[in-house]
Amino acid sequence: MNRGGTLEKIIETIGLYKTYQLGNLDVEVLKDINLTIPKGEFVSIMGPSGSGKSTLLYLIGGLDQPTSGSIKIKGKELSVMKDQEQSIMRRREVGFVFQFYNLIPNLSVEENTLLPVLLDGKRIKEYQRRLDEILGIVGLSDRRRHTPRELSGGQQQRVAIARALINEPDIILADEPIGNLDSKTGMEVMELLQTINHEKGKTIVQVTHSREAAAYGQRTIHVRDGKVEEQ
Ligand code: ADP
Ligand code: MG
Repeated sequence: MNRGGTLEKIIETIGLYKTYQLGNLDVEVLKDINLTIPKGEFVSIMGPSGSGKSTLLYLIGGLDQPTSGSIKIKGKELSVMKDQEQSIMRRREVGFVFQFYNLIPNLSVEENTLLPVLLDGKRIKEYQRRLDEILGIVGLSDRRRHTPRELSGGQQQRVAIARALINEPDIILADEPIGNLDSKTGMEVMELLQTINHEKGKTIVQVTHSREAAAYGQRTIHVRDGKVEEQ
């Protein structure tokens, strides 16, 4: 983080609302969310199930659109971006990590990691050095040809983190990244995320139910009934 000087806002939400339509019922899931996240910060979001945490993360990552309000990534308003510009932003500025890893079962560790590069239409040959480096960071250099079912849960989540890093995004959004892991493995994954924050300067926003996991971040935001309670 840029301490002392002006903080570069990497993520900003202003008056964010999200309403889902369930039949003819309107469900207001997020209400007036105003957040500013400076570059390099590691933020934890906590709150009860159904309080809107995942929705908030998906909106920030451009996986879903707000009903009203504004989201800025590096000062750029998401809603005014063309579809193509938004999908490029999603792939290059943001890396997603999910609770259940979301790996492709019949692809190897290497292939799963390189998926965003393939989707971007780039040549994977040019990514070999970065792949080596990233698999080293996540501790999977000796598991390159394994498929997900040959890996433990913690290792599978490390593949998902490698995949989130391959395009060198500045932002990592992690939705309950250790929610499916035992506590020891979970803390190892938290330590990896902390390393990525400290050494690579990535801005990380994680959703978690664990206070211990939340403490790896520099700030915890509490969400309840679609509102931010305190910061
Ligand atoms: P959390 O991650 O905090 O558990 P979510 O953001 O997943 O909460 O969900 C918040 C509320 O929005 C829940 O009541 C959920 O049922 C509802 N919801 C989430 N996604 C959808 C959707 N695609 N369509 C309708 N309702 C949804
Ligand atoms: Mg959720």
